[in-house]
Amino acid sequence: MNSLFSLSIILGSRYAMNNWIIFGYLSIEAIDMRCSFIKIHSKQFTPWLLAIFLISGFTAQTQKVELTRIDPPFWWAGMNNPNLQLMVYGEQISKTIPVISYDGIQIRELIHVESPNYLFINLLFSPEVKPGMMNIEFQENGNTKASCRYEIKQRKTDPTRFHGFDNSDVIYLLMPDRFANGDPSNDDAPGMTEKADRKNPNGRHGGDIKGITNHFDYLNELGVTAIWTNPMLENNMPAFSYHGYAITDLYMIDPRFGTNQDYVNMVDEAHKNGLKVLMDMVFNHLGTEYYWKNDLPMQDWYNQWPEFTRSNYRGGVVSDPHAAKADYDIMVRGWFDTSMADLNQHNHLLAEFLITNSIWWIEYAGLDGIRQDTYPYPYSDFMALWMKRLLEEYPYYNVVGEVWLSDPQSVAYWENNIINKDGYRSNLTNVFDFPLMQAISSAFNEEEGWDKGAAKLWDIISQDYVYTDPMHLVTFADNHDGDRIYSKLGEDDNKFKLAMTFLLTTRGIPQLYYGSEIMMTGKEHKGHGDIRKDFPGGWSDDTSNAFTREGRTREQNNAFDFMKKLLHWRQTNTAVQSGKLTHYIPENGIYVYFRYNDEGSVMVMLNNTNEEKTVDLSRFSENLHGYSKGRSVLDRTGFDQLTEIKISPKSPLIVELLK
Ligand code: CA
Repeated sequence: MNSLFSLSIILGSRYAMNNWIIFGYLSIEAIDMRCSFIKIHSKQFTPWLLAIFLISGFTAQTQKVELTRIDPPFWWAGMNNPNLQLMVYGEQISKTIPVISYDGIQIRELIHVESPNYLFINLLFSPEVKPGMMNIEFQENGNTKASCRYEIKQRKTDPTRFHGFDNSDVIYLLMPDRFANGDPSNDDAPGMTEKADRKNPNGRHGGDIKGITNHFDYLNELGVTAIWTNPMLENNMPAFSYHGYAITDLYMIDPRFGTNQDYVNMVDEAHKNGLKVLMDMVFNHLGTEYYWKNDLPMQDWYNQWPEFTRSNYRGGVVSDPHAAKADYDIMVRGWFDTSMADLNQHNHLLAEFLITNSIWWIEYAGLDGIRQDTYPYPYSDFMALWMKRLLEEYPYYNVVGEVWLSDPQSVAYWENNIINKDGYRSNLTNVFDFPLMQAISSAFNEEEGWDKGAAKLWDIISQDYVYTDPMHLVTFADNHDGDRIYSKLGEDDNKFKLAMTFLLTTRGIPQLYYGSEIMMTGKEHKGHGDIRKDFPGGWSDDTSNAFTREGRTREQNNAFDFMKKLLHWRQTNTAVQSGKLTHYIPENGIYVYFRYNDEGSVMVMLNNTNEEKTVDLSRFSENLHGYSKGRSVLDRTGFDQLTEIKISPKSPLIVELLK
């Protein structure tokens, strides 16, 4: 059981039994990671205390005050931003005045809100603040009603922290509930409503943190360099809680995955294995079962409607100069789902709460990056403020936004340095390349034509002028929200190899979806469970274990080996990671492009036809200049001349050029 959870149960039950009172001895009753709460117990009353009690005019009926939690549960000395907003929650806590005595920290502002059970404390840190335990006493008429020891931690000084991800990386997206069950004992964590049911495609299957860390060697063997996990914060929802996008506690890892400390250890272990970790964050909505559901700090904490109003999901409305206000309102203020309460980030206390939460996780876990969900759905000015604040704290950081729009112009609206015609500047460092994903999904299925087949890839890439830096796009062929790439390509191994070669050699930072390397299948119209199936071998009773060579079929090993070869080669080749791109209009079903920098040049040729072709290379002389031969990356074939090259049907060819 998580320590916080056990604490609230202990406090709740003791409260009921003993009537916590407001006066008397201070004693430490319980300690957890958030605070050590100091409570006063009625049986500790002595006659002289009672006398003072009577003289001061108090009665035993004085309204009780309880301190339940403080968010964030701790902070650090030496952050760039000297301000910190604490959200204190507890019965009637707003009736108290917090008093602190700690060198270099002062209360700048107290904010009371509609609910008497919240108190917002704005603290100001001097640059000289030292790590330690800060006592916060919550007083009423000079009497301490509750108190808390709040930890000010030492920041880790490792200079490699917070450097983000870049073009040398390949990100592996995995769904924690569906990857591997390393600890069956947490499948039905106490206090969590939904229990494990592996037979239910929409239920919880038991995957967890241990399942992820157990397979870092697999990820290393494959050759990816970063993991992005779907959200792992508590989703204590009655159903569909496995995917993680209905968060019910922004400060706690879901106990079915492990503890907060397990998560921090996972990030540390990933770093030791050369893997970066991206956390999936959601600022648009929270699960409707969030602990404050019946006691919102303010009524405008959520975007409220007279009756349930669903978002129109038309992200383009935010950048549309002709948009009707009614459409905009429904897009941004409408709810993503009945189970997901829409947050009003124009409430400045909530905005600060979200910003603080993201910085807390980055600092606490040593995260390398963030994937932010449903990017156009929160208020865009808030998102720009969030990014600004993040980059002020972590100047080399990366966030990739899910801007699920189908044309490059619409996606580019959300990219960092562009000042749009309406004045909007997002500050967002990276966006997913949804337009290219759509092109990949269809290009290799189509007959070649003027605007079909490989021309679709060329067409999307040719629109890169709209981006500040197209190299920062996160490219992908599939993710947890759509058909798996192998299914999209009709389970055709050759098309799959073409698609993966393109993804790993064109511009951008590639992202793979777990299981694609073993050609897992899934169609979204069959339900989300079909595209989020368990990785075979992640459960001890699985009949095969695809994490091992022996457990994979011949075809799966073929695909895995192909991916492994490409990924390990990519790790060593800076030209293909971040070199310039020159591409040529596809001709006769052949798409040819070059990636090059001062260290070398790579020619990629994709034959999207069903015939073997002989390609005359004279057309590419501007990129071949200075090179006389080459070597195939995939099969090490040497080319001792660069005049013409034969390429097999529906096949990729990657040639490292040699002088
Ligand atoms: Ca488990």
